[in-house]
Amino acid sequence: MRAARPTFGAFNQGGVPTIACFNKAATPLGVDFDALIAAMQAFVDQYVMPVWGTPAKLVKSKGYVKGAWAVVFLDNADQPGALAYHDLTPDGLPQSKVFVKTTLDNHDLVSVSASHELVEMLVDPAINIMTTGPDPKIMYAYESADPVEQLSFKVNGIPMTDFVYPAYFEVFHKAGSVRFDQMKKVNKPFQILSGGYQIVFKNGKWSQIFASVSKKKRFGREDRRGHRSEQRLRAARNRLRRADKKKIARLERRI
Ligand SMILES: [Zn+2]
Repeated sequence: MRAARPTFGAFNQGGVPTIACFNKAATPLGVDFDALIAAMQAFVDQYVMPVWGTPAKLVKSKGYVKGAWAVVFLDNADQPGALAYHDLTPDGLPQSKVFVKTTLDNHDLVSVSASHELVEMLVDPAINIMTTGPDPKIMYAYESADPVEQLSFKVNGIPMTDFVYPAYFEVFHKAGSVRFDQMKKVNKPFQILSGGYQIVFKNGKWSQIFASVSKKKRFGREDRRGHRSEQRLRAARNRLRRADKKKIARLERRI
């Protein structure tokens, strides 16, 4: 029998990626890790997959699994080895990072951050999709949780992020005519809810649009290293980096 071929970045149509979830954070997550993974699996199966057509099989692991995508839980970008996790798995497959301490310091929930990264990775695994939108001078990043990131709903009793539907990125829809997000809080295409934002490409540069001044200030205070907004800059130059396992091991030994 031939070994199963790995499923790469954006090229997953027809495939079901396995996603290895592993926790390298010392900070308590505030939720049981097994229960979190089960809730994220239900989030994908019952909510994301029917809308976006992006199935996935989540598994708990101690580290990278050959041929699998990854969701890595880290304390923050300053944790030893954190930045050496880079953008992709060592095999060059999609990877999300969840910064546990950064999330909790921002008074957010780890389950909401993790489901945020998960749905965005499934919809745009190579972090390179953009679309036209209401402003003809702007290209909009295809980020499915950012515009609604302040909202969450419970799956298996655990809060998961709201996320937008494909119609959100289709500017021709009239307000209220179709469903634009899971929680039915978005009324029209490209609307940014309070506490949300959009990453846009304008005048040759990536920047953010915010729904409110307070969110803009909060965002400015956040440590954005290792986030998709930063990776998008590298993806545009075709330079997403693979995790450096040796470097990670060396840095983690120093603890
Ligand atoms: Zn995001």
